[in-house]
Amino acid sequence: MLYGIEKLNLANLPTPIEKLTKISELLDKNMYIKRDDYTGLEFSGNKIRKLEFSVKDAINKGANHLITCGAIQSNHARATAVVAAKFGLGCTLVLKGNETDDLDGNYFLDKLFGAEITFVSADDYAFRRNEIMENTKEQLKKLGMKPYIIPEGASNGIGSLGYLNCYEEILIQEKSLGIEFDAIVVAVGSGGTYAGLYLGNQLHKSNKKIIGFNVSSTAEHFIGRICELVDETLPLLDGNYDVNKEDIKIIDGYVGRGYAINRVEELEFIERIAQNEGILLDPVYSGKAFYGLINEIQNGKFNDLKNILFIHTGGQFGIFPKKNSFEL
Ligand SMILES: *Cc1c(COP(=O)(O)O)cnc(C)c1O
Repeated sequence: MLYGIEKLNLANLPTPIEKLTKISELLDKNMYIKRDDYTGLEFSGNKIRKLEFSVKDAINKGANHLITCGAIQSNHARATAVVAAKFGLGCTLVLKGNETDDLDGNYFLDKLFGAEITFVSADDYAFRRNEIMENTKEQLKKLGMKPYIIPEGASNGIGSLGYLNCYEEILIQEKSLGIEFDAIVVAVGSGGTYAGLYLGNQLHKSNKKIIGFNVSSTAEHFIGRICELVDETLPLLDGNYDVNKEDIKIIDGYVGRGYAINRVEELEFIERIAQNEGILLDPVYSGKAFYGLINEIQNGKFNDLKNILFIHTGGQFGIFPKKNSFEL
């Protein structure tokens, strides 16, 4: 229960917080990483925290089929397929891609876990994904099923609660570690993770900086989107809260060549972190965001911040379809 809202218990929580000793020394900061890539194996990553709330809501409403969407290598779509399998629910994924795409990474797992897949073009995905999911829902209803739509990334009011919950987990861990983080840093793809953390910081009046690195679109887009998500989440909570939306901080400039496309320097960075820290970042989210964070620190942008927590949001299955892009 969180602020009066029920959730499933699927993720392995709390996820550990580790100090990155070499990077800390190099940057003269205290750099920590929260291992949300350890939430599980099959449903690893950040989406399972949101799905604990979304799927509980679906089950409470009597649903027996989940519908969601994402890119071909969507971690969220894969995590949804896994949860559906676990609870004996049907699952339809609307994926941006083609039948002929390499059966690899998350897409391979989607199939392995038994999800039905509907492929759509990039344009249809961008402009019509919600309409396509609604159509699927209507068709399934005609067949007597009880479908439930989870939006892209499970980023809506209910899904964002997963990271409000995570924020509270971090506050407890701060006490046991004897440290206070000045900033929490995370990749931003559909906004729900950031929105939940931001809300936690506001509700607890903790005064940390919540910093997001967008991996698609623009900072401006996500600031607007996160405001909407905060407004969607607040009414779900027991009680009245005062929230100011002025401190949303999204740093643009690290999308690179585009969503899920990599520059050589990003891949080299992932390789360096693997070989020096023993940590596997993913190419689409944590790789770009952590690269951004280290760059910003080295450019003197965060001189006022000493204790920095980066959340590793998972996504490692997405590295396998990219294996040929690495120069090893
Ligand atoms: C979806 C995702 C994110 C971004 O989270 P949002 O809530 O969509 O902004 C970050 N990292 C990974 C690995 C993801 O799959």
